[in-house]
Amino acid sequence: MRTALVLGAGMVGIGAALHLQKRGFSVVVVDRRPPGEETSHGNAGIIQSEAVEPYAMPRDVPSLAKVALGLTNDVHYKLSAMPDHAEPIARYWWNSEAHRHSAISEAYASLIAHAAPEHDLLIREAGAEALIRRDGYLALHRRPAGFEEGIAEARRIGEHYGIPHRILDAPAVRALEPALVGPIAGAVHWTDPWTVSDPGGLVKAYAALFTRNGGTLRIGDALSLKPARSGWSVATADGPIEAEIAVVALGPWSPDVLKPLGYTFSMLRMRGYHRHYVGGATLARSFYDEDWGYVLAPMARGLRITTGAEFTGRDAPATPVQLARAEAAARDLLDLGNSVDPDPWFGERPVLAGMLPMIGAAPNHPGLWFDFGHGHQGFTLGPVSGRLLAEMIAGEAPGVDPQPFHP
Ligand SMILES: Cc1cc2nc3c(=O)[nH]c(=O)nc-3n(C[C@H](O)[C@H](O)[C@H](O)COP(=O)(O)OP(=O)(O)OC[C@H]3O[C@@H](n4cnc5c(N)ncnc54)[C@H](O)[C@@H]3O)c2cc1C
Repeated sequence: MRTALVLGAGMVGIGAALHLQKRGFSVVVVDRRPPGEETSHGNAGIIQSEAVEPYAMPRDVPSLAKVALGLTNDVHYKLSAMPDHAEPIARYWWNSEAHRHSAISEAYASLIAHAAPEHDLLIREAGAEALIRRDGYLALHRRPAGFEEGIAEARRIGEHYGIPHRILDAPAVRALEPALVGPIAGAVHWTDPWTVSDPGGLVKAYAALFTRNGGTLRIGDALSLKPARSGWSVATADGPIEAEIAVVALGPWSPDVLKPLGYTFSMLRMRGYHRHYVGGATLARSFYDEDWGYVLAPMARGLRITTGAEFTGRDAPATPVQLARAEAAARDLLDLGNSVDPDPWFGERPVLAGMLPMIGAAPNHPGLWFDFGHGHQGFTLGPVSGRLLAEMIAGEAPGVDPQPFHP
């Protein structure tokens, strides 16, 4: 039996482990924590079948000035940390040029197209249906001009990629979500995405499926990864483990483990925050507040606010400026209730400057495979990425063209 080590028990690592297991591999997943307790826990929980294009950075001067002057809540930055972020941001900005972004988006869309069906299979096998809502989310606009822009953009995406949506005026939004009593111009209802009431819980449900089917989870430090006689080895709490192949699926920590092997990556670390609120209004589905750049999601623990991107020092303490603004903005729209978290959660989106995740064989080390850099949509893309990776490892014809994702 062929053997595999998967480093990282987030949505991406567990997705890879399940698909290797389906192809007859004996798989051990190694993480320093139990499954689904980092980025794959802290996100907004949307399985984003509408997210066919990676976010492009603004390239026009007024939009860049807004970001630089702190006039948008989508992005926040700490000036002293910017030298560390400058190189990946410059590359990402270069890739945001219309023609380059359009080519990248075609590749991204090819992967996103299979994301929800791949989740669907795992949701059914894992018996996790209770965590899923399958009725989309709202992109909410407060200003009529912004709403018009949102409608035009939704039409463009809808026509080019065939993504369904509905345009709702303010009364239609309120009919759908009576709790929204504040100022609203209208919303784009993306009807295809699914939302998850406990994102970490879904990873844990998939991990339980993996162990039920004979997989092994081990606590260990991926920084101990090294070549071994039979392939690769890693130290765990239960002693060293060796396997024929190793998959690096460590999200934002992947570059740390690969640096000693001579690989460097241009990765943007976009920190996001979340906090839960209870005792206020109830929402049927999640919404994204286009004017204030946050998602409000009904989750098992309460209404979860998740914020946009913050560029700060890697180990810098929490500076939840965007979260405070988002909370105030959400209170304009509905009765938010009170926070139940003593401190906000924060974590980093692993965004590669090339805008696409890396899924494929390491260029210089036989038996080493990469599956990371899923940026804003890793929760969505974990299972389909795992499938693509496992197909390549097993020598099967891949269901998605792997070339754009080649490390
Ligand atoms: C605020 C926010 C909102 C988001 N909303 C969405 C959304 O709605 N939809 C969506 O699709 N995506 C969303 N994302 C993005 C998504 O959460 C990430 O892309 C995804 O979780 C990345 O998954 P991963 O498995 O690659 O990384 P992770 O989930 O971070 O897993 C990496 C694992 O590696 C382990 N690890 C790290 N270092 C070591 C080591 N040295 N040894 C052992 N183990 C180690 C960690 O413990 C962790 O379990 C959001 C992100 C944020 C921050």
